[in-house]
Amino acid sequence: MLPPSLYAETAPPAPPTPPLEGEARADVCVIGGGFTGLSAALHLAEAGVDVLLLEAEEPGWGASGRNGGQVNPGLKPDPDEVERDWGPDLGARMLALSYGAPDAVFALIRRHQIACEARQEGTIRAAIGPANAEAVRRTAEQCARRGGPVRFLDAAETAAMTGTERYAGAMFDARGGDLHPLAYARGLARAAIAQGARLHGGTRALSLAREGAGWRVTTPRGSVRADSLVLATNGYTDALWPSLRESVVPVFSSIAASAPIAEEVARRIMPRRASLYEAGRITVYYRMDRANRLLMGGRGPQSPIRDTAPIGYLLRYAERLWPELRGLSWTHRWNGQLAMTKDHYPHLHEPAPGVIAALGYNGRGVAMATVMGREIARRLTGTPAEQLDMPVTSIAPIPFHRFWKLGVLAKLWEGRIRDRLGL
Ligand SMILES: Cc1cc2nc3c(=O)[nH]c(=O)nc-3n(C[C@H](O)[C@H](O)[C@H](O)COP(=O)(O)OP(=O)(O)OC[C@H]3O[C@@H](n4cnc5c(N)ncnc54)[C@H](O)[C@@H]3O)c2cc1C
Repeated sequence: MLPPSLYAETAPPAPPTPPLEGEARADVCVIGGGFTGLSAALHLAEAGVDVLLLEAEEPGWGASGRNGGQVNPGLKPDPDEVERDWGPDLGARMLALSYGAPDAVFALIRRHQIACEARQEGTIRAAIGPANAEAVRRTAEQCARRGGPVRFLDAAETAAMTGTERYAGAMFDARGGDLHPLAYARGLARAAIAQGARLHGGTRALSLAREGAGWRVTTPRGSVRADSLVLATNGYTDALWPSLRESVVPVFSSIAASAPIAEEVARRIMPRRASLYEAGRITVYYRMDRANRLLMGGRGPQSPIRDTAPIGYLLRYAERLWPELRGLSWTHRWNGQLAMTKDHYPHLHEPAPGVIAALGYNGRGVAMATVMGREIARRLTGTPAEQLDMPVTSIAPIPFHRFWKLGVLAKLWEGRIRDRLGL
């Protein structure tokens, strides 16, 4: 069952994805029905590959159906850093892939006519304080040097774009945008089915075993034999593949959605319908949807929440940004798990012949997971690993994984305290 959220209430119905009963055979078995798995299945099916997808709950149940809906360009590390880390050739390809990812998402939506409130109105990366503003200015310069449609906005221009004086500056990137994430996930599922992919919801992959040159995936009421496997489970990764779960840190992020805001107020607080995320310690992100609902996202409890969740921090923060919103009614609250990596890059692995895993988008998975799914399909249709636009690396479990997770949580708390102190 989908957890309650604004998206669960307003998305178009899901296509039928009945549980798998009995034995099945496919060229590729995809495990996980979020953007990574659905995009891989769709691109494989479009290429004529016989693909079967297993999802423990239903397509879009994970982070893909619950996120902020921000289609953000780029990777977490700055462009210069990416080229330093990976060299000028692969680095430049990684930048082209990640900064081009929103265009790829919007093109896919147009190609398959997915009704998901998609808008390409840009992304604002806003900086609190002069040091952050300097960092954002450097990022903007690096993007502009590479020909990106990016501008640095000073404090006054940022205030004009956001209706608040909280920010010392910002970067505006015209490539970004937003969408209704569950509608997008369901649209991808529908498109994959239309292209011939078989999708099974309510079907957890319980274990994997080598069988001849391929693999057998055991499920509660059957099994799948496949030549290749795609592991697309991100923040919900379980113990299916050794050490994969320990290679990322799953973190909950929370969202609160308001009742629709009157048009004249909405225009004052967000004159442009760009999505915004804050650069710096602890990310707060927000956007105004098609119905003028404000969707505020950020840290919150590190366990699943319900509608009565204690995420008052986000609501108070909205009032701090725009005092005229005091008294606004907030109708929905929910959360979900995303996966962080220690090096801040998304990870693509090939831990055994015919097995591919992609995960760890560090909160940028709407665009990145979609293009990683496409990269996976390229690889499984014969592209050599070194020609992919993301490096294939080995799975590196984080040493002292449990403690590292505690470290991330401690940082979240530190951010909360610093915010209380107004630092
Ligand atoms: C609250 C929140 C806000 C976010 N906001 C943004 C944003 O605004 N912009 C952005 O770019 N990114 C955002 N993200 C991150 C983004 O949503 C994720 O990076 C992206 O959705 C990851 O997609 P995925 O397909 O890899 O994983 P998921 O969508 O999490 O899908 C994984 C799926 O695997 C399934 N699964 C797990 N184990 C098994 C198994 N053994 N067998 C079968 N199925 C299994 C799960 O049920 C799940 O459905 C946000 C995330 C959250 C939680």
